[in-house]
Amino acid sequence: MVSTQLSSTGSGPDLDGAEVDVAVVGAGPSGLMIANLLGLYGVRVQVLEAAATLADYPRGVGMDDETLRTFQTAGLVDAVLPHTVPHQLLVFIDRKHRDLARLAPPTADFGWPRRNGFVQPLADRVLLDGLARFDSADVRWSSRVTSFSQDADGVDLTISQPDGERTLRARYVVGADGGRSDTRKALGFAFAGTSAGEDWFVIDVRNDPLGRPGAYVCADPRRPYVSISIPHGIRRFEFMLKPGETETQAMSDEFVARLLEPLVPSTATVEIIRRRVYTHHSRMAEHFRSGRVLLIGDAAHVMPVWQGQGYNSGIRDAMNVAWKLAMVLRGQAAAGLLDSYEVERRDHVRAMIQLSTWVGRLVSVRNRLAATARDAFFRTISAAPRAKSYIVTMRFKPMPTMTQGALTRVGSPGEETPVGRLFIQPTVSTRTAGSIKLDDALGPWFALIVWNNNPAAILDDDARQRLARAGVRLIAARPAVQLHWDEAEPDDTVVIVGDPDGALKRWFEARPESVVLLRPDRIVAGASAAHAVSDMVRGFEFAIGALEATLSPITR
Ligand SMILES: Cc1cc2nc3c(=O)[nH]c(=O)nc-3n(C[C@H](O)[C@H](O)[C@H](O)COP(=O)(O)OP(=O)(O)OC[C@H]3O[C@@H](n4cnc5c(N)ncnc54)[C@H](O)[C@@H]3O)c2cc1C
Repeated sequence: MVSTQLSSTGSGPDLDGAEVDVAVVGAGPSGLMIANLLGLYGVRVQVLEAAATLADYPRGVGMDDETLRTFQTAGLVDAVLPHTVPHQLLVFIDRKHRDLARLAPPTADFGWPRRNGFVQPLADRVLLDGLARFDSADVRWSSRVTSFSQDADGVDLTISQPDGERTLRARYVVGADGGRSDTRKALGFAFAGTSAGEDWFVIDVRNDPLGRPGAYVCADPRRPYVSISIPHGIRRFEFMLKPGETETQAMSDEFVARLLEPLVPSTATVEIIRRRVYTHHSRMAEHFRSGRVLLIGDAAHVMPVWQGQGYNSGIRDAMNVAWKLAMVLRGQAAAGLLDSYEVERRDHVRAMIQLSTWVGRLVSVRNRLAATARDAFFRTISAAPRAKSYIVTMRFKPMPTMTQGALTRVGSPGEETPVGRLFIQPTVSTRTAGSIKLDDALGPWFALIVWNNNPAAILDDDARQRLARAGVRLIAARPAVQLHWDEAEPDDTVVIVGDPDGALKRWFEARPESVVLLRPDRIVAGASAAHAVSDMVRGFEFAIGALEATLSPITR
């Protein structure tokens, strides 16, 4: 499949004429995350980055629970956690600093706090360093992809490097090259949507002069601004620029001092790390895939920062695509599986863009009367306990809910189903690992979780063989007090998982299904009662166009 061994240091053999499984265009967070996941799945991946180093300008400051779960799958969560603030409070305030809305979700149903402050350049560094774990992954800097052409078996890329042009052949290409994506443009895909009428000026300072934790968005109609505490003593300020204020003006020290004056004790001692002017866009590519080329992250969609979901959406894309590419490349599934990427992600991305755009419009109101009406509305709904709880717990946040894609349904149509939704991640116990998060017991690939039954006993031979071929881990879930009741594991392919807090039991109590098939992205691919499990497994194989290849299980 691959003829050239690539080094993980970026100084390996000459690229010219090399062949890889996947070429990733762009070493931003989306490209680096998919490269890590592909590395984990044993895929040979070459990242090509136009810049000489990682980007070091102020960007993402909010990481959600789903992204932390993906870092966990990638084996990098311990490395990124020191650069996060768990359970970060977000408060929208009016010009007199009175609360309009408070977001402080206390839950961690998916294993991690729902809102976390973070420093994007440091998280990007964690992803880059993570690639060093894989001999099959490599990043090349100062390597701009200038063109590509695809045929039935692969894609030929032309890469411009400081000392000349190189070529590379890849079986698939992932365009993770940001909002101005050359890959998207080369595919001829429109990038329809809107751009905000006003610019925002972002300043990161060190030795935080305020120190107060939390994120505050002040919807002051005179000049809306943001003040966020992020790790390592950094504070992020964002200010809306007024009509007529130019980028050149904004970058001057006098202008910065004027903006910061009302907020910090002394502008003379403020230590600025980075500053930059941004326009917020709400756009989505016409398609996310053309043949062997896929778009992920900002290359596929961009959105205003107000829900902190640009970065997180790119990580969701990377997770969605990585296991599918791995299956297709390993001969576990037909190439048609890749069609499910856009089918599964498009509606969710659209919902995130709409929510972010709507919040941005509310924050950016410049008319005083309109701002007063807005503030009165939010104060009224915040006084109603149910509405307040809806906002505080962030139940408005669109969660992935897939109705089509790489899924199988057993049960009556129209029935409430967990299929296509994220599975919970409680703390569990195993016989060997003690108390751990569920995904760590499942491993980074597929898992079949069976409540209160021995999976080996309820699967027929055919389904069992199919699961073994696909490397699916079998999980026998039971109350933790039963963890050791039988002497031996039921079978060496089965992992027994105890449920100390009753979270798994409650999940299964709430629905008729007692078995779930989880995809590597922790979306429920199929669910059934115990007696129907073998048909559910065959149904999923049908859904992904499974091929009869024999595979070794993937383990971390
Ligand atoms: C002020 C601000 C605040 C934000 N806050 C948040 C937040 O709180 N939470 C959140 O989720 N998101 C946030 N975002 C959005 C987030 O930063 C982006 O969505 C995210 O960085 C996109 O990652 P990406 O990997 O898709 O693209 P990028 O990070 O843009 O990476 C693309 C890479 O591709 C490279 N490239 C481009 N063309 C080529 C080529 N032809 N060949 C090779 N390489 C190429 C570029 O040099 C770049 O390194 C914020 C953004 C801004 C501006």
